[in-house]
Amino acid sequence: MKKKINRDKIQAFESMREPFGLQDAIREANRCLLCHEAPCSAGCPAGTDPGKFIRQIKFYNYKGAARTIRNTNILGSVCAFICPVEKLCEQKCSVMALEDPINISSLQRFATEYGKKFGIEPLRKSSKTAGKIAIIGGGPAGMGCASTLAKLNYDVTIFEREESAGGVPKWNIPAFRLPGQALAYDIKNLTDQDVEIKYDSPIESDNAVMALLADGYQAVFISTGLNLPFYLKMLNGYENVEDYIGFLRHNKTGKSTISLKNKNVAIIGGGSVAIDSALTAKALGAKKVYLISLEHLDELPADREEINLARVMDIIFKSGSQIAGVIANNKTITGLKGIETEWIEPGKFVPDNARQIIGTEFSINVDLVVQAIGTKPGPEVTRFVKNLETRGKGTIVVNDHYETNIPGVFAGGDVANGGITVVQAVADGKKAAEGIDRYLQHNTENQ
Ligand SMILES: Cc1cc2nc3c(=O)[nH]c(=O)nc-3n(C[C@H](O)[C@H](O)[C@H](O)COP(=O)(O)OP(=O)(O)OC[C@H]3O[C@@H](n4cnc5c(N)ncnc54)[C@H](O)[C@@H]3O)c2cc1C
Ligand code: SF4
Repeated sequence: MKKKINRDKIQAFESMREPFGLQDAIREANRCLLCHEAPCSAGCPAGTDPGKFIRQIKFYNYKGAARTIRNTNILGSVCAFICPVEKLCEQKCSVMALEDPINISSLQRFATEYGKKFGIEPLRKSSKTAGKIAIIGGGPAGMGCASTLAKLNYDVTIFEREESAGGVPKWNIPAFRLPGQALAYDIKNLTDQDVEIKYDSPIESDNAVMALLADGYQAVFISTGLNLPFYLKMLNGYENVEDYIGFLRHNKTGKSTISLKNKNVAIIGGGSVAIDSALTAKALGAKKVYLISLEHLDELPADREEINLARVMDIIFKSGSQIAGVIANNKTITGLKGIETEWIEPGKFVPDNARQIIGTEFSINVDLVVQAIGTKPGPEVTRFVKNLETRGKGTIVVNDHYETNIPGVFAGGDVANGGITVVQAVADGKKAAEGIDRYLQHNTENQ
């Protein structure tokens, strides 16, 4: 049973999906077949164990369900709102005999909100006897790693450059998809474990990671995410051009400098972040919002659900097109010239493979251009550890235990996997914590 999306809520930046009430949750949990080896649990990268928490809801153990989620996934509250479940747990569920998969995300939200409202005992504090570990970056990967290390009794310090933890879910994912209180609850659960978070503490200087190791930290986990956006050269130097990280962040923190009421906005890109930017522009009152992408509609990297949402919000798709030029008044863009494109080699969705179709030129009036064409790790990553092995666009190379080529230095989440999902970042953090524990145990045995 899917809960409908409420367009008015998007415009008010409130959670766009209605929550399950108790009767909804019981009805939905009762549809579960209680499979012996629950395929939904195998579909969750972070091991949140939906098979178990759905069973607990079915047998009226709501607090038990809340504990299962919180104990297995420190971002359990956040994940309930934003996991792409149709590719993960719910996809696995639908292979069974059910017509529609169980609505796992709504049950997860119901259980975590129940646990928060009626109270479950806090997570046990770390005894801090196992060793001292530093984590750089307090996003989902850093939080996943810290929580697991604290359970293993490590003394964990997170160095976070911002004034709050949470990473992208905190600063960039729009509030109509992820209300702030979900993340706040997850952060509180982490600090209950006595993990120290040092805010406003960027780690950026040359050799800073080696300095942490010299300072008594026995291992360092790097989870700094992807924070350097790509830009189209053609748009450089104009005042009314933003990247999606800045655009979404300014809106979330109320620092937008430009009013979009009755303005036209062009978003360049076709992924989930482009759709988030387009919906945000529309919610801020923009008259026309264009989504311009090289990919055609059926090739967009964004999920079907996101594309449907964009349609509901009257986003205008300029798919299979590219920007060919800019119309400007000094440093202000007033319009974009575009042209339709086709792929030279079918199925190869890269800019170099796009060919313009002569005679399909168009132009649109715009007041703001938002670029959403990708991100890569920041330059500090190669600065703060000399000779760190990276690949492609600068992501850190790690082995199966999340170890880098530098002894004692581990990495995970977007900065290593190139950007997947919150739940995958949590999973990376959890596995890296096990890798760190294994590395330190091995070192102790060999001393
Ligand atoms: C707009 C947007 C929408 C998204 N929507 C979804 C979604 O709906 N569902 C989903 O599952 N995933 C979504 N994602 C992807 C998801 O947010 C990321 O995969 C996930 O946040 C990665 O977690 P992370 O911890 O690796 O990195 P981040 O979330 O980027 O966290 C990195 C942390 O490190 C800190 N940091 C960076 N550099 C330093 C430094 N030098 N010193 C100290 N601290 C530092 C940052 O401040 C931040 O707190 C979205 C991403 C974006 C950009
Ligand atoms: S954390 Fe996400 S993927 Fe895992 S069970 Fe929950 S909703 Fe599904």
